[in-house]
Amino acid sequence: MPLVPAKILLDDAVKNKYAVGAFNVNNMEQIQAIMAAAKETMSPVIIQASRGALEYSNLIYLKKLMEAAVIDNPEVPLAVHLDHGNSLETVKQAIDLGFTSVMIDGSLKEDSKTPTTFEENVEITKKVVEYAHPFGVTVEGELGTLGGIEDGVGSGEVNLTDPDQAVEFVKETGVDSLAVAIGTSHGAYKFKEEPKLALDIVKEINKKMPELPLVMHGSSSVPKELVDLVNKWGGKMPDACGVPVAQIQSVIPFGVAKVNVDTDGRMVITGTIRKILTEKPEEFDPRKYLGPARDALYEMIAERMKDFYTAGHASEIKDVTLEEAKAFYK
Ligand SMILES: [Zn+2]
Repeated sequence: MPLVPAKILLDDAVKNKYAVGAFNVNNMEQIQAIMAAAKETMSPVIIQASRGALEYSNLIYLKKLMEAAVIDNPEVPLAVHLDHGNSLETVKQAIDLGFTSVMIDGSLKEDSKTPTTFEENVEITKKVVEYAHPFGVTVEGELGTLGGIEDGVGSGEVNLTDPDQAVEFVKETGVDSLAVAIGTSHGAYKFKEEPKLALDIVKEINKKMPELPLVMHGSSSVPKELVDLVNKWGGKMPDACGVPVAQIQSVIPFGVAKVNVDTDGRMVITGTIRKILTEKPEEFDPRKYLGPARDALYEMIAERMKDFYTAGHASEIKDVTLEEAKAFYK
């Protein structure tokens, strides 16, 4: 299957009440682990890259790795997504690279720090939609602001999404999916104590727009065993805390169709490498620690695919090219 627009995956997820995991990548081992997990659990999947990841990989390396993912796993429905696009220029760059989905985070200005007004958010998001749809590319917008800061993105303020404003935003911009602020947060130090997601807000938005795929950012679970794995082998991540899987599961039936996971993957890789290098200080072949890190990441992602009820849904996804997808946006 060629790369599909994310809209194909997200619409199926809303209809069948599961969520597609969107996993951040910046190197080969991460991409291999995600694809292996999707293949094994028969899950559709979204691989996403932040602006930082594009810069880190000098664009072309990531593009070629994503092409390799498709060739190596033709049975996996895969969308490639730009995470937290900050301008039309970045979006253009991602579409040029062959991404089938882009996010424009108009909740923040181009510096990715200063919150925008509702009108400013509508203006930039609409521009991106008008640019992307003729290419068949799916657009994710964001309304409301999450807490936390990751990859230099975030204002540090929290403003939960207003359901009535969400309706107006979707109508005015024409976005295909909406990232909502419902109490999640970016990074590994999201909360002082276990969070409670704003289930009422999710339910209300879903009631007003039952077909709209909602997106949860900052949704790593940061489970205790991962924190322990990192800390036991010399890491320093005291008090790391995330969104429990059970809380994510509670909102999935209400239109939450994409769940972003980045921190958990970073922690699995870091913890595994720390353990190996501590236990075998004589080891200096990168394959001997990157390989096991890839295996551990695969295990974690396969688990999330089952947790988000994604497993088994790959077979129902239609093979849709960007060319064919242009018709969906009219
Ligand atoms: Zn995010």
